[in-house]
Amino acid sequence: MENCIIGIDVGGTMIKGALFDSQATLLHKDSVETHAEKGETELIDSLVTLVNLLQKENTQSASIGIGIAGVIDSKKTTLLESPNLPHLHNFQLKKLLEAELHIPVFLENDANCAALGELWSGAGKGLENFLFFTLGTGIGSGLILNGSLWSGEQSKAGEFGHLIVQPNGAQCGCGNTGCLEAHASGTAIIRMAREALSAGRYSSLKSIYDDNPDLLTPETIYLEAKKGDALSLEVYHEAARYLAIGIADVNYLLDIHHFIVGGGVSKGFDIMRDIVLAQACERVFTVSSDKIRIHLSRLGNDAGIFGAGYLAKKCIS
Ligand SMILES: [Zn+2]
Repeated sequence: MENCIIGIDVGGTMIKGALFDSQATLLHKDSVETHAEKGETELIDSLVTLVNLLQKENTQSASIGIGIAGVIDSKKTTLLESPNLPHLHNFQLKKLLEAELHIPVFLENDANCAALGELWSGAGKGLENFLFFTLGTGIGSGLILNGSLWSGEQSKAGEFGHLIVQPNGAQCGCGNTGCLEAHASGTAIIRMAREALSAGRYSSLKSIYDDNPDLLTPETIYLEAKKGDALSLEVYHEAARYLAIGIADVNYLLDIHHFIVGGGVSKGFDIMRDIVLAQACERVFTVSSDKIRIHLSRLGNDAGIFGAGYLAKKCIS
């Protein structure tokens, strides 16, 4: 048991964790509530509780990896700020948790961790280079180059969701306009459907929207698209065209060809895939056009804990 490691994914509502052996076998999984509205002490207490739940009696893990949404300092010791944990600023997570547990702790951004998870045990296993991205409320991503995470000079590399794909485009949550996230995320899909309905377009979404606007979600739009609703399909296809631009741009910049897609909206990727692939291949140099591959995530919601486990393993080996 001395080679066991722990991977933890800190989300806004739940903290999920898993105990792994060094071969990426998941031995045990558990979770606790985040209590994001509370402060540093409560989060440390929650993490200690989770680690104790994961470690069996009389065993201690060799190291702990933690993936968390937000900006982490370049030394990977401090969470500078997080959209999911707005009360925490300059939170010295590594130092505080190591003081409680006496186990080495390693931090990484959650999307980067998910990319590492796919590299260790998912759709990226055996690939040297790929971009992993999540299609959800926003678009997060992590970049693997030469078999390692590339996090950049300020730990913010791989911000695929904020590539500009439309100079005069929609407002993005980052403050810029025309980002990929503003045109191809779940939020963008809802916005496009809502705008079309407001403009008077006929769609089976109209009765759903009139009944309760909150029911207009990427899932309901996907289901209507599968039933043949033209507007729903059009909205997904529009998002797919922007994704293709983003993928082509990444290929031009880095000469990489593998892309792994995860996140809640990727469940509807079957109606986007052909357009994303065809238009990305059309946009890149001929030498790359038959080499672009788009894979679905194999680990789904567990990519983050696998990646945090891999981080824990790599940092001590
Ligand atoms: Zn943006």
